Amino acid sequence: MFKGINDKRRRLKRCGLLTLALLGLAGGFISAAGAVAEGKKPLIIVDPGHGGHDLGAEGSGGSLEKNITLRFANILKETLQPAYRVALTRTGDYRVNLEKRASMANHHAAELFISIHSGGFFRAGVDSWGVYYYPPKDRKSFDLPEIKEKRKDPDNSRLNWHHIQTKYIRASKHLAETLKSHLQGCPGIDRVKSAEAPLLLLEGINMPAVIVEAGYLTHPSCESRLNDTAYLSRAAECLRRGIDDFFREK
Ligand SMILES: [Zn+2]
Repeated sequence: MFKGINDKRRRLKRCGLLTLALLGLAGGFISAAGAVAEGKKPLIIVDPGHGGHDLGAEGSGGSLEKNITLRFANILKETLQPAYRVALTRTGDYRVNLEKRASMANHHAAELFISIHSGGFFRAGVDSWGVYYYPPKDRKSFDLPEIKEKRKDPDNSRLNWHHIQTKYIRASKHLAETLKSHLQGCPGIDRVKSAEAPLLLLEGINMPAVIVEAGYLTHPSCESRLNDTAYLSRAAECLRRGIDDFFREK
């Protein structure tokens, strides 16, 4: 369905977009995440949101989004292996800025990028799950205050792949809708939506990419579910089925 995407990405990669600094960074990524260069299985980057002093949302029971996202990312990684190669953008409690998250994924020419959040990062409802993809470049949403504010952060001002995600909008939208269709039938997940969202993280990702908002941590019932390993495992299994479908339809 998306023939030519891989070829385009390889051509773009050869255009010299990567810097030596980013290569050094990616080297650390390999050692941190395992031997991702081995094998021919599709490489999926799972990105646990927040980390370190960036706590994300906080639940009324004291749960922190940065911990929930890392736990869920590890469960998702285990669920996706051995059918896929999986690497995380962070493996512990430390901050990784948006540029590094994007460069890790782009340098390795991964097939998919899935960022995990759980705090109403963008436009989430009270207790629903959401799967978000980057909007077409001509959308007015590019001027939203949330995006302008994030660009003021020096850590986010040097994204080398400005708007490169616009090449994958069709594929990312399809991925979001496929994941949504599988999450909707997942035990314990009441409502799921997929929508465009002008998220700064996504705009520099050179592959199909989505942000999965795993409920809303500040909602008490969501907080207890997000601390339930069995619930997260079931959700990861639903995501795996969606990812399987996405690759079958490519
Ligand atoms: Zn978040």
